[in-house]
Amino acid sequence: LLQNLSKRHLLRSTFASRSASTLVLAEHEGGSIKAQSLSAVVAANSLSQDNPVSLLLAGSGSSLHQAAEKAATCHPSISQVLVADSEKFAYPLAEPWAKLIQLVQLKGDYSHVIATSDSFGKNILPRAAALLDVSPVTDVVDINGPHQFIRPIYAGNALCTVQYTGANPCMLTVRSTSFPVPHISVDSKSGAASISEVDLSTLDEGPFTWILGLQLESIPCLEAIILTLIADSVGKSRFMKLSSQDTGRPDLGSAKIVVTGGRALKSAENFKMIEKLAEKLGAAVGATRAAVDAGFVPNELQVGQTGKIVAPELYMAFGVSGAIQHLAGMKDSKIIVAVNKDSDAPIFQVADYGLVGDLFEVIPELLEKLPEK
Ligand code: FAD
Repeated sequence: LLQNLSKRHLLRSTFASRSASTLVLAEHEGGSIKAQSLSAVVAANSLSQDNPVSLLLAGSGSSLHQAAEKAATCHPSISQVLVADSEKFAYPLAEPWAKLIQLVQLKGDYSHVIATSDSFGKNILPRAAALLDVSPVTDVVDINGPHQFIRPIYAGNALCTVQYTGANPCMLTVRSTSFPVPHISVDSKSGAASISEVDLSTLDEGPFTWILGLQLESIPCLEAIILTLIADSVGKSRFMKLSSQDTGRPDLGSAKIVVTGGRALKSAENFKMIEKLAEKLGAAVGATRAAVDAGFVPNELQVGQTGKIVAPELYMAFGVSGAIQHLAGMKDSKIIVAVNKDSDAPIFQVADYGLVGDLFEVIPELLEKLPEK
């Protein structure tokens, strides 16, 4: 009964319409917000000119507050930085983050909520959308207006125009490669956004409590049912560990040059040639799914439909056939260079420069001729 009574009717009645205002979900690391998160701010700017952006940062400890200070001056359209400081947000788990977004949305009544289309946004935003009972629009690559978006379909082979007709908030994940962050200089004195702490005292209460302002203690049996429903949805995931390799190379998602190897490398040992070339060029390393599945490299290096989407200045593909699932992740690169011994390989259809040759001859020659970094 309570589920059918549904948050949706109660929530909708609380949404008074008002002009555009956007909540951007941001990730931070080492006391700074991640560059990808700023793409969501750029996307928010494309919604409408006068669109105040509130940036939501969550975490715990001093690095969160350092990141908030920096975020307040990093982009002129950010009007406020909302900080949620709690051990619950020490790691980006979807359940507490989704409840946080629900809480902030109910208080701020934003017209749009935006995150980047990476593992953070893809994990958190749909769960928050479910709590707010709206349908998110994912993988947005262009914005025509406040409610009209372009997104790829069929592994990027077609673009689809989506008109959002649902209730507020309109929730989006956007591809960071489609909303590049220009270099912006913000005067820290005149351009700083305000920083406010999110009141988390009601975070563990159910939506019914916030909306109706009911003193549930006065109706014990109703409270018991509601708490059971809420308890059902929390604590289903827990943070185990973070493992990352510090290779000293740029991040694959934001690197200016990417050097990718495919199945043709034949072994993890041979794949080291790709890594050496990447080091000489100051590039990130990418791989096809075939190379990942064969165990040459970890799957965090996979580029493509089910891997990372990249759009560097220069993408170099060695021994990559150019399957559509791979192209879906790299075809927006500015310059594509392909080396393949098969002149009919589909990768040549998207390549700006193609070399029909054996990578086991071409890469050693490149390594020899390129100057030391
Ligand atoms: P192959 O297709 O085997 O190509 C190897 C190429 O190397 C060939 O063109 C060959 O001519 C060339 N070659 C061989 N020897 C040499 C040599 N000595 N010198 C130069 N060239 C040489 N793939 C991805 O990459 N990313 C994804 O995200 C992804 N998602 C997928 C999702 C789904 C649902 C499915 C079904 C598939 C997905 N795939 C993905 C797999 C994709 O379909 C291809 O199988 C894969 O991209 C092929 O990888 P490859 O180019 O390394 O291997």
